[in-house]
Amino acid sequence: MLPFPPDERYYHYSRYLRERFQARVYRISVDAGFTCPTRDGTKGTTGCLYCSNESFAPQRAENLTTISEQIQKGITLMRRFHKAEKFLAYFQPFTNTYAPVEKLEKLYRSALAFPEVVGLCIGTRPDCVSGEILELLAQLNREKYVSIEFGIESVYDKTLEWAHRGHDFARTRKAIAAAKVHGLHVAGHLILGFPTETRDEILATPAILNELGIDALKIHHLHIVKNTPLAEYYAENPFPLFSETEWIALVADFLERLRPEIAIQRLCGEAKPGTLIAPVWHLSKNEVINGIRAELERRGTHQGFLVGKNESNDNQI
Ligand code: SF4
Repeated sequence: MLPFPPDERYYHYSRYLRERFQARVYRISVDAGFTCPTRDGTKGTTGCLYCSNESFAPQRAENLTTISEQIQKGITLMRRFHKAEKFLAYFQPFTNTYAPVEKLEKLYRSALAFPEVVGLCIGTRPDCVSGEILELLAQLNREKYVSIEFGIESVYDKTLEWAHRGHDFARTRKAIAAAKVHGLHVAGHLILGFPTETRDEILATPAILNELGIDALKIHHLHIVKNTPLAEYYAENPFPLFSETEWIALVADFLERLRPEIAIQRLCGEAKPGTLIAPVWHLSKNEVINGIRAELERRGTHQGFLVGKNESNDNQI
């Protein structure tokens, strides 16, 4: 049985949250001042190929307020503008498990100290979760809810190498399996549109994700943002990027192949205003999402429609 009404076409994360917490739950993004191994010299200094250097500017650390201040501000705003009732502290930018376990526990507990905060979402890399860290998260998960979000980005080693990720897909598999053994909710981020992957390879990805046991997924389109190593590469070696129409058809194809129990957190990327080089789309994010829903409706299909069936690409437009 589908975990969503078929006319909604896919399993929206907000539905998952509503059913899990029986309340209006919003995520408050928290910046705890972390860096990444691909930035600090451990595995590189320039970051992943598509990642913005601006986010790592020295003034960022100087301007950071405490976790408690960020949460308090988030609660006030979310209550005022969204009538939010409960909150998840979302340790979002950079690698939020990249510190000694004692420091991590202090940071996470300062967010969980708010009674309205019902849990944590922790964004990280597959190569930055030790057994000790997973034990800590499992302990916190016994007290409140914990979701770990891995930057999967691609299931292909050739892409991970091209994008300077500093780990392979075997590492991702291992990290996700370990997080599941520890009883955590596991989400993944994925980027589609790398020039290293064919359309068939992209559409073979859901079957691989289906086996990993992830609970939620964010899908981004590859975009070229100013002040990234990718912007320099693209200027020298331009390659095709998805148009809105191509993206809508691709994501509809992708969702049909993805297990319906995987909650969808995002269906396209978003660049900060003034930073995008390409592709320039004329539809808003909501219009693209509505376009994906409309495309699935036109086909009479939904997320998971092709799982366990013989696949067909006849629906491509
Ligand atoms: S993409 Fe993620 S892991 Fe890579 S440098 Fe940027 S924040 Fe760090």
